[in-house]
Amino acid sequence: MDAYDASAGEIRVFKANFLWMCKGYYRHNEGYTPDWPGTGDYQGAIVHPQTWPEDLDYANKRVLVIGSGATAATLVPAIADACSHVTLLQRSPTYFFPERNRNDLADTLRALEIDDAWIHEIVRRQVLANQEAFTRRCFEEPETVRRELMDGVRAYLGDDYDVETHFNPRNLPWRQRIAYVPEGDLFHGIAAGKASVVTDEIDRFTKTGVLLKSSAAIDADIIVTATGFHLSAMADVAFEVDGQPLDFADTVTYRGMMFTGAPNLVWVFGYFRASWTLRVDLVADFVCRLLAHMEEKGAREVRVALRPEDEGMAILPWIEPENFNPGYLMRGLHLMPKRGDKPEWRHNQDYWAERKELPQIDLDDAVFIYA
Ligand SMILES: Cc1cc2nc3c(=O)[nH]c(=O)nc-3n(C[C@H](O)[C@H](O)[C@H](O)COP(=O)(O)OP(=O)(O)OC[C@H]3O[C@@H](n4cnc5c(N)ncnc54)[C@H](O)[C@@H]3O)c2cc1C
Repeated sequence: MDAYDASAGEIRVFKANFLWMCKGYYRHNEGYTPDWPGTGDYQGAIVHPQTWPEDLDYANKRVLVIGSGATAATLVPAIADACSHVTLLQRSPTYFFPERNRNDLADTLRALEIDDAWIHEIVRRQVLANQEAFTRRCFEEPETVRRELMDGVRAYLGDDYDVETHFNPRNLPWRQRIAYVPEGDLFHGIAAGKASVVTDEIDRFTKTGVLLKSSAAIDADIIVTATGFHLSAMADVAFEVDGQPLDFADTVTYRGMMFTGAPNLVWVFGYFRASWTLRVDLVADFVCRLLAHMEEKGAREVRVALRPEDEGMAILPWIEPENFNPGYLMRGLHLMPKRGDKPEWRHNQDYWAERKELPQIDLDDAVFIYA
């Protein structure tokens, strides 16, 4: 791999027998900013959270935050007290999950002086069991969950607040990420009048702020574009195999970890509906097993390939949009590797199944070709 060493200002060459891509799933150097008309007219500062200027002074300023994802939900309560006012402008609402920022079971076990390692294991299992039940309910009784999540917001904002307009998303729950709001911090600012939510669309930027499609205008000294990121398949690295370019969008993924046509390469891609690191652990165990197996066999190369029984298998996009469809994924789906319609040829996003399946992968299955 040729890498540009920015500190030395030179290209460095790295050689390895096995490549483990742990590069996350979005471009770290720049965030996604939609192309709104009139941004050049605006006379205040436009800031993307991914390139937040260290010296940005927002004290006593009117700040407009565009977006209502995890970034906006974290940012708004963090700056609301210092600003004169923060407006969160969203095109469509997001589900939020306000909850206490502590765990009663952990507190009880600590009070009983239970060993820390036990507390960790018990509480971890409780959190996972709760997440599994919640995820299942989002698919089995989505409308009930929708109402419960909206009621959770209403509990902070009161019956007079227009929760139907600002906190009733178009999507069913868990088709995009649900942002956990510790102690309801986002809603305290709204209830206190330090922050407000506007659900509308931007028509264009003006000298003093934005004009909305409803004809309303919002003036602001600073506009923060919490509008998401660029999905990046394989870190935008130009891969070649034996001198031929390799486009990962032309490959089929083996369980979201390996790719047809890409030897000696594993990618870490976590979960959308559970902690990312749960899958990092599983993939790490898989890689250790795979490397040990290669050593045992005296193999220098492993690749995955469709088997005769996979012939004619439907080749589909990385994930079904009905299943999970945030903007960053929909914008970048064409860059992602393909999946098949069999469990082993897809990243199924189901920790509770994979925690049993991945450790049991038969490394001598015909999917793996060693050389
Ligand atoms: C707004 C937001 C909220 C999130 N919230 C949660 C959450 O609550 N829970 C959760 O589990 N997950 C969450 N995630 C997912 C999150 O990305 C992962 O949890 C975690 O950060 C991924 O870790 P990683 O080590 O795989 O990748 P990253 O943390 O993305 O690290 C990748 C590293 O690779 C480097 N890199 C990338 N490309 C190159 C290149 N070409 N050359 C050299 N270096 C490169 C990057 O600079 C970076 O240091 C969130 C993500 C976002 C964007």
